[in-house]
Amino acid sequence: MNDFSNTIINWYEEHKRDLPWRKTKDPFLIWVSEIILQQTRVEQGLDYYQRFVSRFPNVFKLAEAEEDEVLKCWQGLGYYSRARNIHMAAKQIAEIGEFPKTLEDVLNLRGVGEYTAAAICSFAYDMPYAVVDGNVYRVLSRWLGIDRPIDSGEGKRMISEAAKMLLDKNRPALHNQAIMEFGALQCTKNNPNCMFCPLIDCCIAYKKGLVETLPVKQHKTKTSNRYYNYIFVRMGEETVIHKRIADDIWKNLYEFPMIETDRAVSEEEFYSLPQLHNMISSNDKPVFKLVQKGVKHVLSHRIIYANFYEVNLPEDSESFKNYHKIKINDIHKFAVSRLINQFLSLTL
Ligand code: SF4
Repeated sequence: MNDFSNTIINWYEEHKRDLPWRKTKDPFLIWVSEIILQQTRVEQGLDYYQRFVSRFPNVFKLAEAEEDEVLKCWQGLGYYSRARNIHMAAKQIAEIGEFPKTLEDVLNLRGVGEYTAAAICSFAYDMPYAVVDGNVYRVLSRWLGIDRPIDSGEGKRMISEAAKMLLDKNRPALHNQAIMEFGALQCTKNNPNCMFCPLIDCCIAYKKGLVETLPVKQHKTKTSNRYYNYIFVRMGEETVIHKRIADDIWKNLYEFPMIETDRAVSEEEFYSLPQLHNMISSNDKPVFKLVQKGVKHVLSHRIIYANFYEVNLPEDSESFKNYHKIKINDIHKFAVSRLINQFLSLTL
């Protein structure tokens, strides 16, 4: 079994990417990198990591920041619950006074699951915990020829037991980094580089011609469609926004007034929506203009189809009075979704 670890560590020493979070033992920096890298490619995550840790170089700076600022730093990265959770967890840590030092205590942090806790404890403290992320699932299911679905209880158990057994307990940080990097660069989801793989002689998937079919997943991600109709209001040099506070996507990000419909609606249908009339003062006779139609925005579980309307109103208008009035030029100070940001970059 040590052959496996030695082989991937040797491979790692030769092929590893030069990444800043691999040069530190600071649990805060490792934690930030792990949270950013969930659901995010390294190339995209790197910029965000550097910006985030230069703004919040330690857990206390993060804890004392306003959530709006943390979300602004996260803007464009998606899965904003990660930003809200890391901020809340930083407050937890600041209260304790130091970063937790055991797996159990790390697991108690908001937004930290088994994978992240094992990564922090192994990378920062060299504790012998096997890290099992998507890359590890793929490498081990192929190398060991495990055909149980990796999203089933049995499949998860098999992979996690194998990962524990194979872990080099004398070099857990190095071993974990090596297997994750091996999955990211060599045993990739599409077109794994089997021909030049140091594990080829003992890889069961390769021997049995199962490389393309492993790992197996039983559930396909279900997606639903949502239909958003945004209204970009101009009142002289001002516009109106609000914070999304519901437990839904983009919680605590800002956006323009928006009416969600259960299907795509035409311009005529939009103009007769009662929600729209409730936003407008009886003194105004606004003329809306549809400026972007059916903009498709794909998220992990949802596809959003957005229409953007623009409307000009007098500076002292009573319409949209429940919204937050801001200078149009100040909108960049607020955290918004990538969808809104794209609209703004085309409009302003
Ligand atoms: S031989 Fe191919 S499938 Fe097997 S571990 Fe190497 S890259 Fe992965």
